[in-house]
Amino acid sequence: MEENEKKVGFYTTTRKVRLYTNNLEYLKITNEIYNETVEKYYNLLFENTQFLELSNQNCLRELEKITIKSKTGEKPKDYFEQNVPLYLRRAAINEAIGQVRTYFGLLENSKKNKNIKPPSKATRFNSSMTLYKGMYRNLADGKIELKLFDGNDWKWFGAKLKDWQIPEEGEILSPTVVMKKDYVMLHIPIKQRIEDVTPIKYRMKDENIRVCGIAFSNSDKFAICVALQSTGKLVKCIFVPGGDEYKNRTKQILGRIKKHRQKNWSYAEKDHKNYWIKLKNISEHYAHEISRKIVDFCVENKVQVISIAEIKDINEHFGKRVGIYSPIFLRKKIIEYMKYKAFKEGIIVTTVRSNYTGNRCYKCRSIVKRNGLKSVCEKGHQADYFFNTAMNIGIMCLKKFGKKIKLEI
Ligand SMILES: [Zn+2]
Repeated sequence: MEENEKKVGFYTTTRKVRLYTNNLEYLKITNEIYNETVEKYYNLLFENTQFLELSNQNCLRELEKITIKSKTGEKPKDYFEQNVPLYLRRAAINEAIGQVRTYFGLLENSKKNKNIKPPSKATRFNSSMTLYKGMYRNLADGKIELKLFDGNDWKWFGAKLKDWQIPEEGEILSPTVVMKKDYVMLHIPIKQRIEDVTPIKYRMKDENIRVCGIAFSNSDKFAICVALQSTGKLVKCIFVPGGDEYKNRTKQILGRIKKHRQKNWSYAEKDHKNYWIKLKNISEHYAHEISRKIVDFCVENKVQVISIAEIKDINEHFGKRVGIYSPIFLRKKIIEYMKYKAFKEGIIVTTVRSNYTGNRCYKCRSIVKRNGLKSVCEKGHQADYFFNTAMNIGIMCLKKFGKKIKLEI
């Protein structure tokens, strides 16, 4: 691979959404038929282990050959009468192949290592049904149609999907129906193209690499981002605001919860629960918004690597004095979402050690004194405290990968 060449990749995420149907019985019957089919092919494959030498696709073909009538109507040796759509059977066969391969993989391991028990053959089949095209259609915002067996025939039935919207980008792969005790979930995999999956050590060799250092704060500035050239030269800086607003909104709700606690619990219970949901929603909203702004900034400034300070335990680091619903505590969630969004844009997030990110001057490395939101170093360099921190975090990342820092002081 060329050092500067971008390597495109793919990444699959799975959206899990509640499925509501008025035809739960049919869905259950269909799911049973699916598992009966898995079982049949599972057992058949144990009688025909030579097929396992083949690729999954060819293995499926061979299994079909020995169980399905030929075009001329001849019945093969293992033919069995089964009224199932082609794509349900194929999904079930692939499931069976997967399970049998897993069995032999485990068996192999147990032969090599005496501490590992040999696996036992499956006797109960309870797989989640994968829907190939032909088993579902008209997947749209909030809805889907499924092909189900109603006891007599296969028919299309509509179902509702909670909070589901067709993603703007990415390819939707075969969904899986997951039957829970009291409800049904649909797992929908989405395959996305990643612009650049080059590992960090290769991309950091590039002379023109740009790194973004990010500091998080408990002030109105949720995050301070500095986009740097490989020499440490500042390209652009942004402050992502909203910390005070977030603090005020959560404070209000926390105040109401406190009031409710003093009231009669049984009256207040429902409201009380709603308040906690509200708190969660507000936090989610800000985490999404802030992470989106950071990633947009990085894309605009052609950043390929994001550097943040490694903080294992935020409680330990900042103390409980700041409160769980304060901006700095949202750091973890912002980073989680930022990583995901950055990855989709081909940007990697990496960490540097958190020592000295705040208390050294990024220009001259001398010790910094903090005065509110300002910092002044021993040699008199003044800067915004968090800007200085973000610069250090960015520069530390560049140094870690052997870049020569040339700052104009
Ligand atoms: Zn200085």
